Amino acid sequence: MNSQSKQNDIYDVIGVGIGPFNLGLAALSDPVPEINALFFERKSSFNWHPGLLIEGTTLQVPFLADLVTMADVTSKYSFLNYLQQHHRLYSFYFLEDFHIPRKEYNHYCQWVAEQLDSCRFGMNVESISLVETEEGALYEVRVADQQDGRESIYFSRHIALGIGTGPHVPASLRKALGGEVFHSSEYLMKKQDGFKGKRVAVIGSGQSAAEVFYDLVGGGEARHVSWLTRSKGFFPMEYSNLGLEYFSPDYIDFFYQLPQWKKDELLRQQDLLYKGISAKTIADIYHLLYERTAGGRDAAFDLQSMTEVEHIELDRGSCVLHCSHRVNEERFQRLADVVILATGYKERLPEFLAPVDSLIEKDESGRFVITRDYRLKTAVKTDHHIFVQNGELHTHGVGAPDLGLGAYRNSVIINQLAGREVYTVSHKTVFQTFGAVKEKAAVPNG
Ligand SMILES: Cc1cc2nc3c(=O)[nH]c(=O)nc-3n(C[C@H](O)[C@H](O)[C@H](O)COP(=O)(O)OP(=O)(O)OC[C@H]3O[C@@H](n4cnc5c(N)ncnc54)[C@H](O)[C@@H]3O)c2cc1C
Repeated sequence: MNSQSKQNDIYDVIGVGIGPFNLGLAALSDPVPEINALFFERKSSFNWHPGLLIEGTTLQVPFLADLVTMADVTSKYSFLNYLQQHHRLYSFYFLEDFHIPRKEYNHYCQWVAEQLDSCRFGMNVESISLVETEEGALYEVRVADQQDGRESIYFSRHIALGIGTGPHVPASLRKALGGEVFHSSEYLMKKQDGFKGKRVAVIGSGQSAAEVFYDLVGGGEARHVSWLTRSKGFFPMEYSNLGLEYFSPDYIDFFYQLPQWKKDELLRQQDLLYKGISAKTIADIYHLLYERTAGGRDAAFDLQSMTEVEHIELDRGSCVLHCSHRVNEERFQRLADVVILATGYKERLPEFLAPVDSLIEKDESGRFVITRDYRLKTAVKTDHHIFVQNGELHTHGVGAPDLGLGAYRNSVIINQLAGREVYTVSHKTVFQTFGAVKEKAAVPNG
């Protein structure tokens, strides 16, 4: 091991990972005098899903889902203040569009991160353990500098996990990974090598798959682009006003008190609330395909739903996709030079928690048990907690990864850290009722 240094300060909270959610926690706790916070990110700077910052893509939620606004519209870290500081307020006003470019959201987050002394980049959290000190039980956090490998030790009363989700590839396709077969999260890095003259297959039917397909067909370099999915179709994500109300504190209240088996059943039925393709992207794709085929031009693309790619075989520089049709059960093969797996993201169980793992309560499926106010349930006899951001889909429902609920969740966490109501936590935020409506018993006349 390289040299080691021990920091004497005791922090109120140490955050692991600096994605939008922990960055929001850093920004919202910055003006709170009671909270001495520190955040670590292994990447050398803030960079939001860099492999998918494709030209022309936008946030799927309104700009109000920035890091702070839904908790505090007066925060200096708001997107509107970012616009003003960058002399873009008028342009945004004339743009008349709530959905900002994904690249601009990334730049906005970088602007916030640069102003926060609590954010440290290029630092990987290696392990977290619980230690007895003169100050009582504290979390000991070991962090490695990514440049020189130097290890430092920090102490904190609380932990905030903000490590996001990781690229997911079905087990049956994992063997083929490497070189020309890769996850969509690497798309722009791989695009630099060029797809000129190649047959490219995109697998999946979520937003990332659609954006990659659009970019490939629009770019016109690939010889042929195939888009395959095992889903029943290339369907739009629910985006009606009343559907959006599922991404609210009220829906979390309703979902949270359901038994776990019911939550799992509901989540299986709710894919299109958060996993489909935006209707606008579908329209853009359709317009592109229509234009590309005008005048009888040969279509250099094809789209096929209900098709499961069961495994991928590499044969003399070609990828052979072994497919089965999920409805008529036919088996067939497709050939490609490059295969892009837009097969989604999954929560990860962090290895750095291994020293405290035996203290953490798990459900029957080995998942964390999480309280309504985002604390891991543990056997630890202390009021020092491990908070979870975006790891609570199974307990709190579809809103867990949604950027629009980040400021709400951070308000709930900050109020606990400070021991007072720093940010007002809204209830009754939607028009509809999710649970049973109980009429008051009628009062008899006379
Ligand atoms: C391409 C894409 C677009 C999306 N667009 C939207 C959208 O428009 N609207 C919406 O509501 N949701 C969107 N989402 C869903 C979701 O909100 C985002 O994935 C969001 O980035 C989640 O933020 P996070 O803070 O949980 O994690 P992440 O952004 O994944 O950040 C986690 C960070 O933790 C770091 N880390 C992990 N382990 C350690 C460690 N041991 N030490 C130090 N650092 C560590 C990682 O390097 C990473 O930077 C999108 C998701 C993707 C993939």
